[in-house]
Amino acid sequence: MSRAPAVLSALGATLGDLLGRRCHACGAAAPGRGRGELPPLCADCARELAPWAGPCCPGCGAMFRGATGGAGHLCAACRLEPRPWERLLFHGPYQGLLRRLVLDYKFHGRLGALRLLRGLAREAWLLGDAADAAPGAPPDVIVPVPLHRRRLLHRGFNQSLELARGLGALLERPVPLAALTRVRPASTPDRAAR
Ligand SMILES: [Zn+2]
Ligand SMILES: [Zn+2]
Repeated sequence: MSRAPAVLSALGATLGDLLGRRCHACGAAAPGRGRGELPPLCADCARELAPWAGPCCPGCGAMFRGATGGAGHLCAACRLEPRPWERLLFHGPYQGLLRRLVLDYKFHGRLGALRLLRGLAREAWLLGDAADAAPGAPPDVIVPVPLHRRRLLHRGFNQSLELARGLGALLERPVPLAALTRVRPASTPDRAAR
């Protein structure tokens, strides 16, 4: 068996140490630049955080594992009841490393995770535009999902607002704080189910 991958990996770790670059997701040495404008990632994390490239329903984002009717194929639920929005973009399934980053940021306020998630949201937007034959104009405003006042006091920040600010900066669009108000607290507990 070849030892080349192990040697390359060790070399990468040494370079990462020398340059002081660490993977933003796991802390391992991460030589080289991050993908696009993402912060540095090691090869494993970059692979795990690759954008979903398979077929999916453009109405609700349901990811199809098998063959479908091609791009633009709607799932049965969306064919029965079309969604009220014009466009939906997402990065990937809520599982594995992506899920851990969301939980780290949302429930532990890890700013490194926020930086990565902002980068992934930006990537999802740019990839969606590139895949869309007629992407159209960016939205007039970006409205984050509001937190109830009590939840905001408890957590100290609105995770949705901080992500929206990243997109607002990318698209040069305002992110109004008071566009929506949550009048009833959400029923889910304010803690991570890990
Ligand atoms: Zn990593
Ligand atoms: Zn659907």
